[in-house]
Amino acid sequence: MEKVRRYSPKREAILACLRSTDSHPAAEWVYAQLKPSIPDLSLATVYRNLAQFRQDGSVTVIGNVNGEERYDADTHPHSHFICRSCGKVADLPMSRVEMPDTAALGRTDSCSVTFYGCCNACLEKKKA
Ligand SMILES: [Zn+2]
Ligand SMILES: [Zn+2]
Repeated sequence: MEKVRRYSPKREAILACLRSTDSHPAAEWVYAQLKPSIPDLSLATVYRNLAQFRQDGSVTVIGNVNGEERYDADTHPHSHFICRSCGKVADLPMSRVEMPDTAALGRTDSCSVTFYGCCNACLEKKKA
């Protein structure tokens, strides 16, 4: 039986906000974007909905970047480049990685590769 979920404008707005950007934002960013148009929005509501989206597979979590969990509404398999300096997260096409043999451990259903480094903008700033 499918759980009937009440239509929630906040829920919709949070998901739409995530889908409108490829910056892989943190919860605080989503909150800051929506707060002006949804004055009674709380950061706790944003976190609660993000946790829900994560659970039902609408968004993925890239990981912790400079102390913040970063979210991605693009759930297709792809890799990421993360700048350690400014926290920029950029999409990369899925890279060819040699798949280790995981059969002995179980069945793999997802895999992600993350590249860490320093983005060109930050490299330029360091030069200047
Ligand atoms: Zn950077
Ligand atoms: Zn991504």
